[in-house]
Amino acid sequence: STIIETHDISRVYRMGSETIHALKSVSISINKGEYVAFMGPSGSGKSTLMNIVGCLDTPSGGNYILNGNDVSNMTDNELAEVRNKEIGFVFQTFNLLPRQSSLENVALPLIYAGYSKSQREEKAQRALESVGLGHRSGHKPNELSGGQRQRVAIARALINDPSIILADEPTGNLDTKTSYEIMELFENLHAKGNTIIMVTHEEDIAKYAHRIVRLRDGLVESDIINDDVTTFA
Ligand code: ADP
Ligand code: ADP
Repeated sequence: STIIETHDISRVYRMGSETIHALKSVSISINKGEYVAFMGPSGSGKSTLMNIVGCLDTPSGGNYILNGNDVSNMTDNELAEVRNKEIGFVFQTFNLLPRQSSLENVALPLIYAGYSKSQREEKAQRALESVGLGHRSGHKPNELSGGQRQRVAIARALINDPSIILADEPTGNLDTKTSYEIMELFENLHAKGNTIIMVTHEEDIAKYAHRIVRLRDGLVESDIINDDVTTFA
């Protein structure tokens, strides 16, 4: 079933008298369970598209249907609600709270979901175990390696059982070996049925995705199934 559908979406930024067409007309359809990489040179519109797909921004024109709902014209509050329910974000810089333990960081999104403290801790502990960090639940971010921090961030992204995991340059701050560990984790998440979209400019990372969408100048330049997908299996 289709989880993401964009119909001719555009995004225009106005800066003084200048008009920037960051996205001109982008139509893509992504099914539940797909593992997609968005690629393209700097300025091609990747961040703009990710922001719209992640309900952080709305298109200037066209429609975006997420999980059957047209979110194109939602207010900020409505978007925030959709975001909490549907999207798990993973960032290049991890975005963990430095004074909180792994467990507290992972449990954070559950506060708005109405769980008790013990339920939150139990779910967060299980999420940490699912990324191989059950033994690091009491550690703070600065007591963890970069790869471990990113795995905490991935556990946090998974905690609300989102429809989509959106990862923006998830290996951008990691060394090569650690990057592959994160790609192996994504491969496992994909095998479990998670929908994954990641933005990357590294071919070496995109090769793990099963579909590669390339943007150029605010348009889809190519959209191909990666028949030659690299796996750890
Ligand atoms: P990418 O992520 O591929 O580098 P972006 O989506 O960040 O591309 O940017 C696409 C184009 O839109 C670029 O020309 C960029 O300078 C411009 N742009 C992006 N965000 C803004 C903004 N908030 N205001 C003005 N221009 C922007
Ligand atoms: P990246 O492509 O790694 O996300 P960018 O430098 O393109 O980094 O964008 C960082 C942030 O700044 C994004 O949120 C983007 O929307 C915004 N941005 C990019 N270009 C411009 C611009 N020309 N003016 C204002 N904001 C911009």
